[in-house]
Amino acid sequence: MKKVSSEERLKDEREQLRLPARDKLSIIEAEAGPRTKEILREALRYESYSNLYWEIFRFPLVVAETRGATVTDIDGNEYLDCTSAFSSLNTGGCHPKVVEAIKSQVEHSILYCEMPNETRIKLARKLCELAPIEGESKVQWAVGGTHAVDGMVKAARYYTEKPTILAFLGGYHGGDLSLTTDAHRRSFATSPMQSVYHLPYAYCYRCPFRAEYPSCDMQCTQYIEQLLSNTSYGLRDHRRDISHVAAILVEPIQGHAGFVIPPIEFLRELRRICDDYRLLLLDDEVQTGMGRSGRFWGIEHSGVKADMVTAGKSLAGGETYSAIIGKSEIMESWGPGAWTGTHVGNHLGAAASLANLKVIESERLVDRAAQIGKYFLKGLKDLQEKHELIGDVSGRGLFLSVEFVKDRRTKEPAFEETPKVEHEAWKRKLLVSKGALGNRIQLAPPLIVEKDHVDRALEILDDSIAQVEHRTQ
Ligand code: PMP
Repeated sequence: MKKVSSEERLKDEREQLRLPARDKLSIIEAEAGPRTKEILREALRYESYSNLYWEIFRFPLVVAETRGATVTDIDGNEYLDCTSAFSSLNTGGCHPKVVEAIKSQVEHSILYCEMPNETRIKLARKLCELAPIEGESKVQWAVGGTHAVDGMVKAARYYTEKPTILAFLGGYHGGDLSLTTDAHRRSFATSPMQSVYHLPYAYCYRCPFRAEYPSCDMQCTQYIEQLLSNTSYGLRDHRRDISHVAAILVEPIQGHAGFVIPPIEFLRELRRICDDYRLLLLDDEVQTGMGRSGRFWGIEHSGVKADMVTAGKSLAGGETYSAIIGKSEIMESWGPGAWTGTHVGNHLGAAASLANLKVIESERLVDRAAQIGKYFLKGLKDLQEKHELIGDVSGRGLFLSVEFVKDRRTKEPAFEETPKVEHEAWKRKLLVSKGALGNRIQLAPPLIVEKDHVDRALEILDDSIAQVEHRTQ
């Protein structure tokens, strides 16, 4: 088979995204149910093609209901959810306690400028208690994850009076931020590419230094130190030996890339480097927070603290809400209106978030994610024994992923096969999604899943992979 370069793949993906409506229609006409067809035809007519719809439409889905770990489409088909709407429904679809809190709040106030209400202040207190931050902290509200990361970076620049942010290849951080390395999102990004350096992440299966963990001696973090101490790379002012770097921004597990899990030393080393070079450690937990990794925050696995942390996605059980929690001295270094937004701190999202955090606590969902995650991972490892197409499987709590390769020795990524597995799973009523790296399937069921859900998901994956392997033989 012809080898496809990453440039060719990107060009091809761009073309796919721009396919004229009639080509997109042909996908839904072939496979969708009657009501789904009807709605998607309208969607194609009236909605911009930038709306993802699983990259229009690797599989067609019009949602009628999300409930617990199932999604029902408008034609009445019931799917097992292993995406949690990109880790936004950790407590499951429409958790009754979250629904109740939203219903009750909506009767009283939805928002009023950025004025607080009682519930929001309770939430702020709760988040400060939970935050993986040493000493006193404070909360800044935001709308969505991108907004929260934008605010966190701005606060770090305010506080340190330095412009440069070190981030990582494969990181996401936001739809249109230059901090993102996702190729589609970055091209034509509107936010300026101001003083951001991207460094290799600890993606051990494809180590950028071609080393093996653990004998590698963490060359990836050694490299960061070399950059920071060298005066000729522009991170230091060579005349006065002043660092230009404000912070290191990191996801404790790279979510959007396809759930890339670094060794626990990675964050420990980043913390040490931040301390040695007097940088802030900015912990983007938009996806890793709220218990999915088997700890409340992803960074907890390394036993280190951050200076600032973001929360989003699952914070409000599906409602739109996000937050930045930072050390008090950082959060006090900027004044009113330094960074803001009309819907920031709205009361509806605060009520949903507070109720959602209570559910995570009372249903012990963090421990549950750890336990069920182990069970799921064991099942994936069994599948790896069986299917040559699987190069690697990894998991931490309910962040699980499968990396597909054409050849286990060369590790050539199976870019064509991976979306086919995703599609076959959808046909068998399982929702999974492909990570941005292109050859990883990520599995992120709600934390309320039962073992029999996991067994069903494994069975479907087994059949789907077998089907794709059979077709490529
Ligand atoms: N940071 C991380 C780690 C994310 O995974 C995401 C979303 N995938 C974002 C930020 C952006 O969040 P949102 O899509 O809510 O703007």
